[in-house]
Amino acid sequence: MATLVINCGSSSLKYAVFDNKEALITSGKHERLVVNPDTGESHGEAVTSILEKCRAYEITGIGHRVVHGGDRFHQANLINDEVLAAIEEFIPAAPMHNPYSLAAIRAAQKAWPDVPHVAVFDTSFHSRMPRRAYTYAIDHTIAEKHNIRRFGFHGISHQYAAGVAAGFLQRPMDELRLITLHLGNGASASAVEFGCSTETSMGNTPLEGLVMGTRSGDVDAGVLMNLLRTGEFDVESLDNMLNRKSGLAGLSGISNDLRELETAAADGNKQARLAINVFAHRARKYIGAYAATMGGVDALVFTGGIGENSASMRARILQRLEFMGVMIDEDKNLDASIQADNQFAVISTPNSRVDVIVVKTNEELMIARETQKVAAAQKKSAVAASAIDEIELPPIPIAVSARHCHLTAETFAALFGEDAEPTPLKDLSQPGQYACEEKVTLIGPRNKLEGVRLLGPLRNVDQVEIARTDEFRLGVDAPVRNSGQVSGSAPITLEGPAGIVNLTEGLICARRHIHMHPDDAALYGVQDKDEVSIAIVGGDRDLIFGDVLIRVKESYKLEMHIDTDEGNAAELGRAASGELNQSDIDEPADDDIYRNVAIGKKLEL
Ligand code: AMP
Repeated sequence: MATLVINCGSSSLKYAVFDNKEALITSGKHERLVVNPDTGESHGEAVTSILEKCRAYEITGIGHRVVHGGDRFHQANLINDEVLAAIEEFIPAAPMHNPYSLAAIRAAQKAWPDVPHVAVFDTSFHSRMPRRAYTYAIDHTIAEKHNIRRFGFHGISHQYAAGVAAGFLQRPMDELRLITLHLGNGASASAVEFGCSTETSMGNTPLEGLVMGTRSGDVDAGVLMNLLRTGEFDVESLDNMLNRKSGLAGLSGISNDLRELETAAADGNKQARLAINVFAHRARKYIGAYAATMGGVDALVFTGGIGENSASMRARILQRLEFMGVMIDEDKNLDASIQADNQFAVISTPNSRVDVIVVKTNEELMIARETQKVAAAQKKSAVAASAIDEIELPPIPIAVSARHCHLTAETFAALFGEDAEPTPLKDLSQPGQYACEEKVTLIGPRNKLEGVRLLGPLRNVDQVEIARTDEFRLGVDAPVRNSGQVSGSAPITLEGPAGIVNLTEGLICARRHIHMHPDDAALYGVQDKDEVSIAIVGGDRDLIFGDVLIRVKESYKLEMHIDTDEGNAAELGRAASGELNQSDIDEPADDDIYRNVAIGKKLEL
């Protein structure tokens, strides 16, 4: 049983075959496709020749790398008509990639009609960036009309590198804040915050951000308008200049290959030296920025041709980051030659607060993994679909959670007095949890929010959960986090009858999630930390919430929690509460913490 990976570029097509234990069986590359009329080889023909070479293997799934899936796909997807249409729709945004991917997919579907074909997108890993990170500050009506927002690219490599780093640190990715730097001919940085990319340097196109081999990265848009006004440039020549004649190549006037620039710089070439300095400075600037947006960083991860191979570029980028707790072992950095079978090397000192890890990227393996996952899920859902006729899955009660707080004994005492105890008001649906009589006032830089209810019992860590609109009222930026992930979250001041407490962190927008008992999880065929989509069937509007986290515990009772903004978006007003299939709070009071409003039905994993 083997998985075939097809990685289609504009003029090349790489393929790799992995067995189901992730061992590489064979791989190859077809180059100079289409662009070279002498070879006459096209992407479709290249696929046919791969078919010949792979006859010996029992191919059970085929993964296709697709550069642009926009914001549509949070993960790899089984290729169906909708996926094909989306790849086509994003051709104008990725004219050098998506058309060739489509050609290769169609040829492969013809060659292997009976196996699942899976699209693995470069954009998926970034598709959950918060709105404030992906929005450009331009006229929003124009942005909406033309879908101008940041998408980010290189997601497969960022996700892979982050996964390897987490493996080395022996901690789950959803506990870590990582900055991944994919530095190759194309280059981008990503802030990987608790398993999600929350910032990345490439934007609407792969032109923005870091200095690249031939691409400029960040440039003031005013410069482009001025160049157009000179009459020396039109759109095409500007495109050519920024995408093909800039970056290391344009700056140095020598080459896009850092190896050549390092040699020239050693020989005293000033432009080569400048190119290297600009490249390193830009990367260092993004590291600082992403440490700030995440509120801290556990590890820096280097990958890509330059990130893996250039010790001097790594050293240059990491200069003067000691203030952030980055300590580099010079010898380890020099020795970090990453051999094909060496997945990673650590180049920080043991006492460095931030680990620095060099990872050999392996996009093909990542694509194979994702393909196997999607193919397995498809098999499972086909079985489930046939069983669904027999068992009607129960709907999932949905509760809108009002803003609330969980406090430590110490914070509680400071707010309500040394001798005070939380006063239970009523039990909540999750066993052992209760709403308390006590309320606090949240004080933000802009405004106050009064009457924020305490939930019991007291906890080990302070956590205040608000909705997006509350952020604006308070004048703070709170990250979207799973409950318990407060490290590096926003600060907030709490006021109670006995005093004021300034929390340096603890304020979050809770990510929507479903509590499940293990029996529920088995029934729905999901596991802890899975992400699912839920269709809302009780509100005035049809709505699907994607990206819903499953949380499974013995003590949990089946219930989905969304915040007030999400409830409002789905128009799950009080009128909808007649649709309830269950309510755990009897009194119609404004201080309800979890208000059951509708039911959802599981859609897809
Ligand atoms: P990629 O696009 O990830 O394959 O990276 C290719 C780029 O990595 C090349 O254009 C070089 O600039 C750079 N590179 C590869 N090997 C080295 C090396 N040993 N030293 C410096 N740069 C390197």
